[in-house]
Amino acid sequence: MTLVATDSVRALPTVEQHHRDRRSYPSGVAFLDGQYFPMSEAKISVLDWGFLHSDATYDTVHVWDGRFFRLNLHLDRFFRGMQSLRMKLPYSRGEIEGIISNCVALSGHKCAYVEMICTRGASPTFSRDPREAENRFIAFAVPFGSVANKEQLERGLHIAVSDTVRIPPKSIDPSIKNYHWLDLVKGLFDAYDRGAETALIVDTNDNIAEGPGFNVFTVKDGRLRTPAYGVLPGITRQTVIDLCDELALPVSVGDVTRRELKAADEVFITSTAGGIMPVTKIDDAAVGDSKVGAVTRQLMDLYWKKHADPTWSTLVTYA
Ligand SMILES: *Cc1c(COP(=O)(O)O)cnc(C)c1O
Repeated sequence: MTLVATDSVRALPTVEQHHRDRRSYPSGVAFLDGQYFPMSEAKISVLDWGFLHSDATYDTVHVWDGRFFRLNLHLDRFFRGMQSLRMKLPYSRGEIEGIISNCVALSGHKCAYVEMICTRGASPTFSRDPREAENRFIAFAVPFGSVANKEQLERGLHIAVSDTVRIPPKSIDPSIKNYHWLDLVKGLFDAYDRGAETALIVDTNDNIAEGPGFNVFTVKDGRLRTPAYGVLPGITRQTVIDLCDELALPVSVGDVTRRELKAADEVFITSTAGGIMPVTKIDDAAVGDSKVGAVTRQLMDLYWKKHADPTWSTLVTYA
């Protein structure tokens, strides 16, 4: 079949196409270019450098039982990232807080996964000079999602340690939350090939770094440890450190070798998408006694309790 010019111009969707499009998106509300949209209608230009070059920063915060958890820390990180990347938005911090709250309220979700994104955008003249690009803000609220499903949270995850090296901090500052995920995705495929459910990848010194969207902790003889180098300092990781202080559990931040990971009594991962999630198998070996450990359970319980505490959370006002 030859493609004539008119074939290449997309006709308006039929009603069936419209419904099909809607079904292939999660239910939720997005904000972009100054307007709110259902998820299926929130679309950006393919010329946006966020898409073409991963030239973007973002943050993810969750809403649990109608309350944002540690929203200020997420906004701090988002604004620090934009500043480091020399991006500017026409919205103040208060306005961004208002927009993401509106996305959640309009979505109606009481438990939501919320992203705020700043992309480089594109230059109106298609110049290659990033200073000429008009930065773009996008936000959305969809149903809460977790790295681990219910069954995995109960029995613990099976993780594989991949030989893939996380992008070095001298290339990309890992404290700026970013979409440079090819290393993490390669790690995931390695893990699936080996029958595991998710992956950890290593830093440039072959120590444990992090996984696709999560940090990791070990517990050995009652002491907790989490990698410092080449990782995104997660807000959930920070929350675990804060909870350890409250529970008087010793915690330190520093290198974790492959051997230390495998010799740990307990291992868990942390992410806004799922909270504190136990790991009970690494490569082909059980972690500790292969059951979710007592320290992990204690932290998980306190973590979820804190979601109702007004000093750690912010109420969303639904219409
Ligand atoms: C978001 C993210 C994490 C986890 O950070 P949280 O703030 O706890 O959600 C860890 N590593 C990477 C690469 C991430 O993008």
